[in-house]
Amino acid sequence: MGDAFDTGFRSFTMKTAEKQETGGGEGPECAVETGRSGGGLTLMPDTPGEIPGNAQFSFLKRIPARDNALRLRIEWPGSDVKPPPGFDYPENANFARVLPEIIFTSEDGDEWRRMEAARAVEAGAEITLPPSPRAVWVSAGIPYFDRHLTDLAAFAEAAPDWTVRKIGESGEGRTIPAFLREPANPGVCHGCFFIQAYQHYSEWAGLQAVDALVRGVHRVPGAERFAWAVVPCLNRDALARGWRGDRMHNGTAADPVGGGNLNRNWTVLSRPETRAAAAFLHEAAKENPPVLHALDFHMGWSTPEHSGGGLTVFKAGELPPAEARRERAFAKVFFKHVPIEDFAWEHSEMDRPNCAAWAARTFGCIGQTVEISRFRAYDAARNPMPVSTDYYASLGPRAAEALIHFHTPAL
Ligand SMILES: [Zn+2]
Repeated sequence: MGDAFDTGFRSFTMKTAEKQETGGGEGPECAVETGRSGGGLTLMPDTPGEIPGNAQFSFLKRIPARDNALRLRIEWPGSDVKPPPGFDYPENANFARVLPEIIFTSEDGDEWRRMEAARAVEAGAEITLPPSPRAVWVSAGIPYFDRHLTDLAAFAEAAPDWTVRKIGESGEGRTIPAFLREPANPGVCHGCFFIQAYQHYSEWAGLQAVDALVRGVHRVPGAERFAWAVVPCLNRDALARGWRGDRMHNGTAADPVGGGNLNRNWTVLSRPETRAAAAFLHEAAKENPPVLHALDFHMGWSTPEHSGGGLTVFKAGELPPAEARRERAFAKVFFKHVPIEDFAWEHSEMDRPNCAAWAARTFGCIGQTVEISRFRAYDAARNPMPVSTDYYASLGPRAAEALIHFHTPAL
């Protein structure tokens, strides 16, 4: 614990082996070709239908330079197949219906543009890429690449108000970084916030929000009176290798070798990732007590009628009445500051093996999961609009604002 952040983190991402594995050191592709006809190409995500959860929503493909326009059809698997019992997301088939809203392209992997001209077709979406001497990424949603995390770590390392720590290594040996921002005046610490993202592959929006929080929290009034303990990306293997690196699809949560869903591992802490984050928060809590609030950022989907966004609250009766009132009062403050669907999802239970419940049990703080929609943004007046890079980035500093507002003692 507490190892100085060293160049090992950055040099690792430059390893030739990993570069090859992730397609030029950029994003891990997640698509297979299923058809080709004059001027047209049909692709599907390469995620098989039987996998649970988030990887069902992953599509990312590098399209080479082309002399002619290319008609690209993206077909979503399972569109006319009834999901088997026990599926995490039985509405998965309907995802094809929102697909045309979230097709993004990028040449450099940094600037992502929504394909407004995407057309809905049977079981998916179709776009036309113009001729171009340059290759282009095509994605469902706005990706965050492993090198963006490296950039964020470099930013935090250079910033005077953050310290960067290597808190452990992933199952495949990648460094897991964490950032700590201590109160400006050690004599004035109201407590510690725990911010985490990316337990699950392709839930990029959570990482984008937390990235922006790290970069922007110094501009949020009052932030300097709190400690901020941030694990921006718990699932480093999945970030680097795509869904094939996501433990959710290997073994069970209780199986320390096979892996499992990281967010079902917080009771046993048998994964190196969850153990590292837990130990980091214990240490941050010792240095900057008490832990006031834990927010674990995800990216949600439920049905085309529901954004999939929201904030979890414990089920009625799970918390003592005063704590339950406080938690729900925070939800109100959160939705006032953060433009996601104001949906307090009565979802958590105290004995659940997820991060939010673990934080609440361990530190007696408020512990919540933030779900950011995969396809729907909201403007300040809460009118729905398409998602964008700026929208996702705006959520981090606004979440910080909500935390500060709620936890600043009245003067
Ligand atoms: Zn998730």
